[in-house]
Amino acid sequence: MTFEAVKQQEQQNIMPVYSRFQVALVSGKGATATDVNGKQYIDFASGIGVNSLGFCDPEWSAAVAKQAGTLQHISNLYYSPVQTAAAENLCRLSGMSKVFFANSGAEANECAVKLARKYGTDRLGAGRTEIVTLKNSFHGRTVTTLAATGQNEFHEYFAPLTTGFSYAEPNLRSVKNAVTEKTCAVMLELIQGEGGVVPMDKAFVKELRAFCTQRKILMMVDEVQTGVGRTGTFYSYQNYGVVPDVVTSAKGLASGLPLGACLCAEPFADVLGPGTHGSTFGGNPIACAGALVVMKRLAEPEFLKDVREKGNYFAEKLAEMHGVSSVRGMGLMLGAKPARGSVGEIAVKCVEHGLLILTAKDVLRLLPPLVVSKDEADKGLAILREVLDTLEP
Ligand SMILES: *Cc1c(COP(=O)(O)O)cnc(C)c1O
Repeated sequence: MTFEAVKQQEQQNIMPVYSRFQVALVSGKGATATDVNGKQYIDFASGIGVNSLGFCDPEWSAAVAKQAGTLQHISNLYYSPVQTAAAENLCRLSGMSKVFFANSGAEANECAVKLARKYGTDRLGAGRTEIVTLKNSFHGRTVTTLAATGQNEFHEYFAPLTTGFSYAEPNLRSVKNAVTEKTCAVMLELIQGEGGVVPMDKAFVKELRAFCTQRKILMMVDEVQTGVGRTGTFYSYQNYGVVPDVVTSAKGLASGLPLGACLCAEPFADVLGPGTHGSTFGGNPIACAGALVVMKRLAEPEFLKDVREKGNYFAEKLAEMHGVSSVRGMGLMLGAKPARGSVGEIAVKCVEHGLLILTAKDVLRLLPPLVVSKDEADKGLAILREVLDTLEP
């Protein structure tokens, strides 16, 4: 099929909600993708931070194929050893007590919102159901997670949204002002991804932890983008030296299969009891088989150290580029602000030159697969430098 034929089929049959790059991809290996014409691309995007082990890691592909040929789905009416193994690994790597499996980031956050509201009602009193989130945050596209998202442009057209959310600036004074006698939780990303790769201040995160404990409200960290090794630790709160009460995860968790997770610390492990929540597909055996390979790999002694070193290498090389005015982020979650040109146009040019790259607000956003090789990194960085150098001053 030619690119034009694919594009036409898309336009005829798919709701026009996505603005896509003019490329149709058909295969990939590691951090290199191939399009319908056989042209290759270096991948600094991993989908959107999803393919943590890159395209078609042999061990991952074999485990997923084996599970697909053994037992693909059973529902949550029965026990699944693949699901329980994935849960055990995830609890161990996160330091959390229990997990609920969903299928996406938004669903993981829906579970966190339900857990917080039930916690508030059960243990703090009737009406303790409101949640404070941060301005410029992103928590998903369902009606409730849109309400949690502290960016007005996402709210347009979809009123009435779920009530019970208010938005604070990323500092303790503003959070304190937003917290009322109805608040049950504060939810935040430690590095705002869609908001432009904006890391939270370390002192603020520690103060917030202490404040939530003191007020008996939940500290809920949305690790959907920052999680699963992305920032050089399994979850980004491990970089910040805090332990949240609730953690949500999705994107990189199963390296390309739909799996979300809402984890919680021991005191909250039984807040959501029988019949209060569920998911038809949640914790699907094939997705869990993929996640098991991801977690096995990330638990290897050098893996996360290697992510941190590669992250430093990327950050250094980006900062050296004349076309880049500043770099922010952590590990392999980086934002590079171009000195000139619009990020959208730069990303389009990068794709034309064989580099898949993301944008978020005013930055070029890099979320390469955690297994990106030095050679692929250098190739992709060379393409980016060349594109930035050819921009009109
Ligand atoms: C992507 C993202 C979500 C939404 O995840 P979906 O799987 O698209 O529902 C939620 N929170 C954060 C921080 C994200 O980056």
